[in-house]
This record gives sequence, C-alpha cells and structure tokens, in this order.
Amino acid sequence: MLDIQKIRANFPILSEKVNGKPLVYFDNGATSQKPQIVIDAIATYYQEINANIHRGVHTLSQLATDAYEISRVKIQHHINAKFSHEVLFTSGTTFGINLVTNGFASILKPGDEVVVSSLEHHSNIVPWQMLCERTGATLKVIPMNEEGELIIEAFDALLSEKTKVVTVNHISNALGIINPIKYIIEKAHAVGAAVLIDGAQAVPHLKPDVQDLDCDFYAFSGHKMCGPTGTGILYGKEEWLNKLPPYQGGGEMIKEVTFEKTTYADLPHKFEAGTPNIAGGIVLGTAVDYLNNIGFENIQKQEEALLAHATKRLLEIEGLRIYGTGKNKASVVSFNIDGIHPYDIGSIIDKLGIAVRTGHHCAQPIMNFFCIPGTIRASFSFYNTIEEIDAMVEAVKKAKTMLS
Ligand SMILES: *Cc1c(COP(=O)(O)O)cnc(C)c1O
Repeated sequence: MLDIQKIRANFPILSEKVNGKPLVYFDNGATSQKPQIVIDAIATYYQEINANIHRGVHTLSQLATDAYEISRVKIQHHINAKFSHEVLFTSGTTFGINLVTNGFASILKPGDEVVVSSLEHHSNIVPWQMLCERTGATLKVIPMNEEGELIIEAFDALLSEKTKVVTVNHISNALGIINPIKYIIEKAHAVGAAVLIDGAQAVPHLKPDVQDLDCDFYAFSGHKMCGPTGTGILYGKEEWLNKLPPYQGGGEMIKEVTFEKTTYADLPHKFEAGTPNIAGGIVLGTAVDYLNNIGFENIQKQEEALLAHATKRLLEIEGLRIYGTGKNKASVVSFNIDGIHPYDIGSIIDKLGIAVRTGHHCAQPIMNFFCIPGTIRASFSFYNTIEEIDAMVEAVKKAKTMLS
C-alpha cells in the first residue's frame, strides 16, 4: 500500500486551512492538486531555459525545444501511441474535441450520423451539435439506464453505414461510470465510423493504451492529472490527422507561405499553430512521471478503497441516494439527500473545510434523466484518506440536520 502521509507531503495545498478548517479536497474531478515537483518545474523552466521553440538556432531555444519534444515522447510512451507525431499538445480536452469536430466539418454530409452518449460532458456534446448544424449531419444519442450505464443493445441498434463518428467518454465525470469503450470502438469500426474517446476523467486513474483500444482520437486535459492548467493532449491516429484539415492557421504550422498558396507543415506541427504553452507542455511530462512513479496500480488500489468506504458510509445516511450505481466505477460518488438542494449541503460543508462540487457538472442531460437539478459530487484522488471521508460524512450529517 501507498504511504499516503508521505504522498500528501508532496502537495503543499493539502496542508492549507480553508475557512479555518483543514482542507478536505474532494473536487478532483474538476481539477487535481499539484505536487511540489510540478510547481517547481514551472519555475525552473522560466528561470533556466525559457525561449521560443522550433525556431531559434540559439542554445536556449534548442534546450526549450528539446524539453518540449522529450515531454511529447514521454506522453507518447505513456499512452502507447505508435508515433510521437500522433501526440498533439493542446490547451485541454475541450480544445482537442473542437479540433476534431472542426476537421470533420469538411468530411460529413447531410444524412450522415454522429453518435454521442447520454453520459457526456457538455464539451463532448456541444461541439458535435455545432458540427451537425454546419454539415446537416444528425446527432444520435446512446441512452442510459437507472444505474447510469449506457444501454449497449441500444448503441448496437444505432449503428449503421450512416454512422460516421462515435464519441463517448472513457469515464463519466458526473457519475464516475467507466464505459465499455473497447466494445464501443470495435462495433463502431465495424460500420466504418471513426471514434473519439473523451479521456479527461480517465487519465488521473489509469494509463490508457491507445493502440490496444484502437481508438482514432483520445483527448484529455493535463490539469486533472496533476499537471498545469491550460495543458492537454489530443492523440490522433496518423492516418486521421493527415486527413483532417488544420484547426488554426498561423506560425509554426506551415511549410511555405505565399499569397497564392500556403502548404502545411508535417504532423504534429500542422495542428500546433502559434507559440504554445511551452512551460505547460514540458511540465505535463513532469506530472506524468510523478504519477508513474507512484504507479497506477497503487493509485487504483487506494482509490478503490476510498470509493468503497465512501459508498458504504454515505449510504448510512437516511434519505441519501447515490447516482451512478453501475459496477464499473472510478472514485466518484454523486449523491443527493431527499428534499434538500445539493447547493445547500455543498455550502454548509464548505464552511467545514470540505470541497465538493455541486450542480450539474457540465452534464445537464444526465441531471434531466434523473429529474434533479444537480448532485453533490465527491471525487477522490490517491492522496485522499479514509479519515477525510469520515469527516465529509459527519459534515453531511450535520448539514442534513441543519437543513431538515
Ligand atoms: C473536465 C472534462 C472535460 C473538459 O475538460 P477541460 O479541461 O475543461 O477542457 C471534458 N470531458 C470530461 C469528461 C471532463 O471531465
């Protein structure tokens, strides 16, 4: 087992007080905290090698370029991409998804179909709706059941030769349900559709193997996996990235520019216009190293223990309902208490130092399905403890007494 106290000491914010109480941070689904090594790496970059990349002959530019490209290769190995040029630096999951939907605008035709799931984050709904509006394609939705699981037979029934793209998240941010993406990818490929996986909630908990999954695109954010905000990765199969047009025009992404015609740079630069978040990209590599040093098996063991304890303790509270009761789950508990607005509970326990998310979690269709305005979501990371969960349960009980 992990030495949690030793790990917690890596995260300076975890010893902070909030509202005079020790911070209990259970909003990891929104963003993770950052270890000192990540915080320090940002300063080291600016203190020692700050320069623009891919364009200078001078030494600093070379050092910064090398560090940036080393980070790309590190992430390539982390997700087991075949080539490093299939790994695009982005500003986050949202950017990655929009890059893909923008590209498909030149591919889709009226009558084509895009399949999304009812478990998606707004970031993986709205860009596809916009794409359908632009192209005349139709959006189809994989329904879910009361356990918060996708109804796989209904998915199978949606597929046809009209299906051009299927997109689904690896893990639902609102409920924590882990989707059977390998099956979904295989079935989608059987009708010739491309598949984008929204991996934003998966990468903090597991190491995706994009070749084994055989997905065409896999998008994620750095800030949910101990990395800096404003960083992210879009993995795309070489074949698809060559097929899609560039997302943004500008410096870095060109081979040759004249007013008559511009030719685009090779991958990955074709999709990386302008000066990127150089420090962020380099330090995302530091975060990936940090997580791998802890080990994803260890992370999962700790998080499974936290999930099991939280589920059991919360269900002791009368009138409490957990949403997302499917078997295959990440360390997220989304719940409500009968007759009490989630926001009220969230505000009271915040006064006790406990940070949870309340609301629709950017997944309004899920809330509509359950006919609720939102939930209280406690999302755990490997650096959380059983004692913190007990503190949350006590705080929720107190809030319940105050509000009923
Ligand atoms: C957080 C999240 C996003 C959006 O990520 P950004 O970092 O805000 O771009 C998309 N999908 C899921 C499932 C998420 O959890």
